[in-house]
Amino acid sequence: MRYPTNDLENHWMPFTANRDFKKNPRLVVEGKGVHYTSHTGHDIMDAVSGLFCCPAGQSRQEIADAVYEQMQELAYMPSFQHGHPAAFELARRVKNLTPEDLDYVFFANSGSEAIETALKIAILYHRVRGEGQRQRLVGRERGYHGVNFGGFSIGGIVRNREMYGLGLPGVVHMRHTWLEENRFSRGQPENGAELANDLQRFCDIHGGETIAACIVEPVAGSIGCYVPPKGYLERLREICDEQGILLIFDEVITGFGRLGENFAGQRFGVTPDIMTIAKALTNGSIPMGGVVASEKVYKTITEAAPETGIEFFHGYTYSAHPAACAAGIATLDIYENDGLFKKSAEMEDYFLDQLFAMRDADIVTDIRGIGLLGAFDMAPRDGTPGVRGGQAVKDFYNAGVLVKMTGDTVIVAPPFVADKADIDKMFDIIRGVVAKL
Ligand code: PLP
Repeated sequence: MRYPTNDLENHWMPFTANRDFKKNPRLVVEGKGVHYTSHTGHDIMDAVSGLFCCPAGQSRQEIADAVYEQMQELAYMPSFQHGHPAAFELARRVKNLTPEDLDYVFFANSGSEAIETALKIAILYHRVRGEGQRQRLVGRERGYHGVNFGGFSIGGIVRNREMYGLGLPGVVHMRHTWLEENRFSRGQPENGAELANDLQRFCDIHGGETIAACIVEPVAGSIGCYVPPKGYLERLREICDEQGILLIFDEVITGFGRLGENFAGQRFGVTPDIMTIAKALTNGSIPMGGVVASEKVYKTITEAAPETGIEFFHGYTYSAHPAACAAGIATLDIYENDGLFKKSAEMEDYFLDQLFAMRDADIVTDIRGIGLLGAFDMAPRDGTPGVRGGQAVKDFYNAGVLVKMTGDTVIVAPPFVADKADIDKMFDIIRGVVAKL
């Protein structure tokens, strides 16, 4: 353990019950492959790729080496009016994976920053085309787009919004896509494509010419894997095309092979105008996010400015940080060399079999899944949402498996390097815990 500590007071932990945690901490001191080791020495299997971040498994030597070498050669360089080679190389490598003409990559340092950047790009795109009236943004109930002001405003998770004031003006939300009749759907549900017509209703009532962008996660991840109904994303694309609205896919969770294709848009056959990425871009090793814009969006904005003028007054001190770029390039090398997206696709059926076998547990009320991403809902204990889930966080950890809890929903997304025996073991532990919850 490199940094032993007995004093937990000063780290104000995010999305955590700080006082409760500090009484009984759950610290992890090591990670290798699909396993972690806790500070008390017990093994924890990684059933959620950290936080959807680490498809290639923990502590990859190739990434560590690349970052180490980059830090020795060039540890920092601003990306404003200057640059360094790794940034251009990573952008080129990302472009090789993205669909159609989504070719231009703007780097940020997290999913949340990527979202803020994407929203600004959308508004700027319309503005430079003389459509500055397009300022409305359309999000979706239960969507998660990070925690910054733009992100929580377009997001639809009540707990993330309710205490922080009004948020951005001009934001409207489509209904979420969970439907009772779709319970226990494996892959894309049959019902609910018509929910995309909420976007049409906003066009009718507000005027389509006032809407800049519609943003959705292709599969809503953080709230518990809501797979889009068949035809839903296609309908959103159609309305956006008819109304001149930019379609933004937030691929922060679904990007880089999670659904067996490079990006979820490719799996569903729908191409957005703008895409956000983060997490698996560096296998979670160094913070990094990004926005990938279509040629139309990039060229419209850049060509609207004089040749020597800055086109987009936006950027972060750490945009395209050399260490993150090195980690990104090494990560994409691993994905390619180890054929990990193919492995993800090949494991889908086996993983979903195990996931849907959870249906036998009495307290499980719904299961959803696609690719290597899935979730099951548990009935609230004594009718109070969240109590069972709160207990589950501790019980899963103590039993030796890391999952993501949202309320009473258990989310799983194993690393692509997990083999069948690993998946079996993860679900054995999960099943054992659920049986006692
Ligand atoms: N968008 C989506 C779809 C996410 O799932 C997340 C995080 O889970 C974010 C954005 C925010 O990313 P970050 O936590 O890196 O800011």
